[in-house]
Amino acid sequence: MIAERISEITTALPQGVALVAVSKFHPVGRLREAYEAGQRIFAESRPQELAAKVPQLPDDISWHFIGHLQTNKLKLVLPYVSLVQSVDSVHLLEAIDRWGAQNGRVIDVLLEVHIASDATKQGFSPEEIMAITAAEGRGRGREATANDGSRPQTEAEYGHVRLRGLMGMATLTEDETVIERDFQRIQDLFEAVKAAHPDWRWFDQLSIGMSGDWPIALRHGATMVRIGTDIFGPREY
Ligand SMILES: *Cc1c(COP(=O)(O)O)cnc(C)c1O
Repeated sequence: MIAERISEITTALPQGVALVAVSKFHPVGRLREAYEAGQRIFAESRPQELAAKVPQLPDDISWHFIGHLQTNKLKLVLPYVSLVQSVDSVHLLEAIDRWGAQNGRVIDVLLEVHIASDATKQGFSPEEIMAITAAEGRGRGREATANDGSRPQTEAEYGHVRLRGLMGMATLTEDETVIERDFQRIQDLFEAVKAAHPDWRWFDQLSIGMSGDWPIALRHGATMVRIGTDIFGPREY
């Protein structure tokens, strides 16, 4: 069943769009089933749960973190993940940067955009995203340019964080025109950041689309879709 769902979804995804299997609240046996079906990217939203699952599964999995991350939980998350998709405050960005400096790592992150009409969602406004990326660009401008396009590590605003793109959610609604509008706004913002920083070749990831709305996200430039329920069924605990 899990294998069939993964195969159906990956068949529907265009080349270059990654399937992120959202495995939060599901027991490791189900993740193993997905792994055996070929799935290699999994996302979790709670630090303890992530840290408990990682050692029980093969080490060629790429783990992403997609939940609200408190700065006192970084050590449960950052050693294990290849991408933090849910950076939702400058405070968190700075803490991740410090952790990266202390541990000799550059952490790939997405900035979480708040665009949906729901009052509860986390994330930055489009204006904040433009301001943060502009500040990062000024930091980078002080550096000698590496001509291979690799990220110089020293003097950027956040020398141990690499901004890989944006993550966002549409309003939770059945109304497709509202979902279209939300994804369009996130895509426009993504394009605006790229246009402002044409040398950021690493800023190339747009994570939009969940179980209810991923086919719509594909029409708005998604490079990753984050799918839980459509793969694993309802969450178990
Ligand atoms: C839980 C979650 C998902 C997956 O939701 P489904 O509706 O089960 O596909 C995607 N993104 C984030 C940020 C989540 O927290």
